[in-house]
Amino acid sequence: MEYLCSECSTQLSDFEIELNELYPVGKLYCEFCQSKHERKIIKKIAEDFANELDFYDFKK
Ligand SMILES: [Zn+2]
Repeated sequence: MEYLCSECSTQLSDFEIELNELYPVGKLYCEFCQSKHERKIIKKIAEDFANELDFYDFKK
């Protein structure tokens, strides 16, 4: 099965497929397009992390 970047239709390498599995964003992106979306992904991870911290603060 071929995995194509949903933005530029480049075929994804095994490494890029792995990245997409680690950080699923609902679409497949090659490394180049992934980096364009990285800010959005990092922001989401940071928000999830902040929510967890809030949760632990709340429990104290
Ligand atoms: Zn791409």
